[in-house]
Amino acid sequence: MTALSQQALEGVRRIKPYQPGKPVEELERELGLTDIIKLASNENPLGPGQAARAALSAPLSQLERYPDGNGFALRSALAAHHDVGPERIVLGNGSNDVLELIARAFLTRGRRSVFSEHAFAVYPLASQAVGAELCGVPANPAAHPEQPFGHDLDAMAEAVNEHAAVVFIANPNNPTGTWVEPAVLETFLQRVPAHVAVVLDEAYNEYMAPELRPATSKLLDQYDNLIVTRTFSKVYGLAALRAGYALAHPDVADLLNRIRQPFNVNALAQAAAIAALGDTRHVERSVALNNEGLRQLRAGLTAMGLGFLPSQANFVTVDCARPAGPLFDALLRKGVILRPLAGYGMPNHLRITVGTKDENQRCLDALGEVLDIAGAAA
Ligand SMILES: *Cc1c(COP(=O)(O)O)cnc(C)c1O
Repeated sequence: MTALSQQALEGVRRIKPYQPGKPVEELERELGLTDIIKLASNENPLGPGQAARAALSAPLSQLERYPDGNGFALRSALAAHHDVGPERIVLGNGSNDVLELIARAFLTRGRRSVFSEHAFAVYPLASQAVGAELCGVPANPAAHPEQPFGHDLDAMAEAVNEHAAVVFIANPNNPTGTWVEPAVLETFLQRVPAHVAVVLDEAYNEYMAPELRPATSKLLDQYDNLIVTRTFSKVYGLAALRAGYALAHPDVADLLNRIRQPFNVNALAQAAAIAALGDTRHVERSVALNNEGLRQLRAGLTAMGLGFLPSQANFVTVDCARPAGPLFDALLRKGVILRPLAGYGMPNHLRITVGTKDENQRCLDALGEVLDIAGAAA
């Protein structure tokens, strides 16, 4: 440790770095493999739609220009999409950016950040960086009949003490795929005091069954302390461009807009996001492919006698019933990248992103081989 690194803020020094899904190029370099499939980062196997791809050409010819720092066109499109005023929208360099803005605006030493155990890793990361007290609330037990490893919102409401400033809820949650019933969410919102921010992270909202999706715009009208986050990285297939946003009360949005970088969303991302938002057919196609892929993966896992968590997202979390680390490594050697979850306190689980039909089958076959389950590849 240098004298300078010792001077870093305590919260920063104690951070455990985020572990992203293993990039394909990295595995190519390490093992000299080709024909690798990556089902590790919940990306859309179809990529972006044609409209989003086409929208990139105009900003590409103007790379010397700063993007619109207010994101006027994108915020207008989002306002229409959600039927809210543009003053409720905060754009981010991915929704990760917005989650950090929320942490910076509301958390510091002496304030508590509440989230569920096995929830998205960015909540503790962003909270710890600003020195807040981390309160990871025990999740539902593995034997829970409906939402094993899912958020226990009653316990989370109880964790909201006088120091609590932010509660993060991922719905559906990554890496479990579990979700919160609309009525349960509403009861929770009623219980949390109005000066505590409730962040509802809806990165996978578009994949949910329609009847399970919260009435986002209506809830925003009712609860001034609700902040909803969304992303273009998942169903819209634009993870590389980094675009996400928050919907919040105009006063809260104003605060978050004051602390973001003036040009935090680049011009390519803004243009592609607007086009993607209007391309409802691509979203429908992506969701349909995902639903088929979920059925395929569940059937294959069931045939192998493997358990898995219920999911309303674009991934399935498998209970390998043994340490998953060696299985993850063995799958890498077969050119299949999944996501190990030991860092999430789930050492026996692997998360599989739903891919194309062929990718899903290759994943199932490889899993059967490394588990040495007779007839798994049949
Ligand atoms: C993928 C994901 C995000 C989105 O991250 P971006 O920064 O928008 O790419 C946010 N929350 C959860 C729970 C996620 O899984």
